[in-house]
Amino acid sequence: MSETAPPADFDCRNCGHRVSGEAADHFGWCKACRGTVVKRSSGWAVLPALVVVGLYLWMLGWFGLYDSMFLIVWIALGAALGWVAFKVARRVLFDVIRSRGVKPPADDPQRPA
Ligand SMILES: [Zn+2]
Repeated sequence: MSETAPPADFDCRNCGHRVSGEAADHFGWCKACRGTVVKRSSGWAVLPALVVVGLYLWMLGWFGLYDSMFLIVWIALGAALGWVAFKVARRVLFDVIRSRGVKPPADDPQRPA
């Protein structure tokens, strides 16, 4: 990889816009395109996180831990688990969504692609 993106101007590899005043990321994407992927992957990452938390809560019931005096600990642990699942899922989804490409942000609709 000999990625020597100039700090000044670059053409975003996703939307093809000429972008100035910001640095391209490793994939040569502009900040707006990256933001779109972040937003979308965050939205989708909620689903697997909820599934993980749901499974965890089901497991607590399965083992009868709702009667435990450490219930608050289990719940805190579950919340942490859900958060980690969210982060991991978002990380994975980010790559998946980016590899498929996203529509360029509609901040410049009159510009021809
Ligand atoms: Zn872009």
